[in-house]
Amino acid sequence: MSSVELVTTGSELLSGRTVNTHAQTLAEKLRPFGLKLVRDTTVSDDLTAIAEAVRGALSRVDLVFVSGGLGGTSDDITREALAQIVGGQLVLYPEALASLEQRYAKMGRPVTDVARRQVLILERSEGLLNPVGIAPGMMIQVPSALVGGTSRSREREQELPPTNPKTLFVLPGPPREFVGVLETGVLPRLGKLGLPVCQALENLWECTGLGETEIAERLEKIGLPTPEIEVGYCAAMGQIEVRLAAAPEHAALLAEKTAAVRAALGAAIYAETRIGLEEAVGRLLATQKKTVAVAESCTGGLIGHRLTTVAGSSAYFLGGVICYSNESKVRDLAVPRELIERHGAVSEEVARAMAEGVRARFGSDCGVAVTGIAGPDGGTAAKPVGTVWIAVADAAGTAARLRCFPTTREHVKLWSSQQALDLLRRRLQGGAPDTPRAPGLPGW
Ligand code: ATP
Ligand code: MG
Repeated sequence: MSSVELVTTGSELLSGRTVNTHAQTLAEKLRPFGLKLVRDTTVSDDLTAIAEAVRGALSRVDLVFVSGGLGGTSDDITREALAQIVGGQLVLYPEALASLEQRYAKMGRPVTDVARRQVLILERSEGLLNPVGIAPGMMIQVPSALVGGTSRSREREQELPPTNPKTLFVLPGPPREFVGVLETGVLPRLGKLGLPVCQALENLWECTGLGETEIAERLEKIGLPTPEIEVGYCAAMGQIEVRLAAAPEHAALLAEKTAAVRAALGAAIYAETRIGLEEAVGRLLATQKKTVAVAESCTGGLIGHRLTTVAGSSAYFLGGVICYSNESKVRDLAVPRELIERHGAVSEEVARAMAEGVRARFGSDCGVAVTGIAGPDGGTAAKPVGTVWIAVADAAGTAARLRCFPTTREHVKLWSSQQALDLLRRRLQGGAPDTPRAPGLPGW
């Protein structure tokens, strides 16, 4: 596998204003080509800092990406920084200029000098047209002699002449444009660079209902990782991704361990591709030709939002009620008032009545309900902040789940939506066993 480095430029990435997403995007897009992102250096909009970071990256690996600073404003100085390394002038890129003039003509805006600066490229580069913006990217072949050291092993150095150039791809900063130029300008050129490529085999599982340490323990019991098989974990709110990766010569061992992982994680696995729980649930509903309606108290519409984020959700999502007040639970979902008075709005009885109520009201196959205490106020010793009751009603009956996750309001909402979608998923999968959880509270 060839190593790749990324240099992300932008003071906003270091000031806490903007989250740097390019490393993730790049690593994902390069993996199928057998290219591994090994370092991401973030620098401010400073000429010397950018030049130093790029020079350092070029001294270590044969393929380097640089992002950002290709606009026309005074803080866009990436071209100038790169000119310090490879030399040469900045020249107008005619195709990009034509596209800029067309865009501006459509908007009835004059093409200013600042606008024209965006379509300058280094004369020693090949321009990469930007399919969704103005500033083009660049591909630059940098003679090794200009950047000193090399990451190549001695054997490889003997194979390749020391003058073999390194490749620098320069991409615009806005994420949509970064991906646009990456897909149309960079990926089609990668095969021609002659980099040693060894495509790793990889399997992944998206899981809910088990914590990262519980998953790691189960995997250790089946002998993972091994020297041949790498195990990776990525934890998000109420969801863990597990990956196994191995070189092609270990395909048989990988297949064996893959079967063992499926058995060890069982019903916790909701997908074997990188999709969200809302999409996994959507696929189950669509395949089974079932419909769903939601009754949301503490999630405030988040479950409906997540379900409708999936294209084609109109086939199975009928609607929902945001029943934030007790009055709404009674009026809109026919929850008996005395249930709320006797057990409280956050209770198993009320969650079940909400799920059954919304199912009846919308005539859906499944009704999903959430009622909980998002905080920061409203918690008690018996029902602290983060206490959530979830229920799913369907033709087979009603299932309820109690969870407690004391955290911030935003996270309680997110995590509750995850728990609700997971319970629905397990019901749709024929009642895949729920994971019993000790809420960790006295008397519960
Ligand atoms: P522009 O013409 O928009 O100025 P540019 O190539 O000069 O494009 P930058 O000025 O570096 O790019 O960044 C533009 C915007 O793109 C930033 O304000 C930021 O919101 C976003 N951006 C840049 N780099 C990243 C990154 N690594 N991750 C996420 N967003 C980024
Ligand atoms: Mg800019």
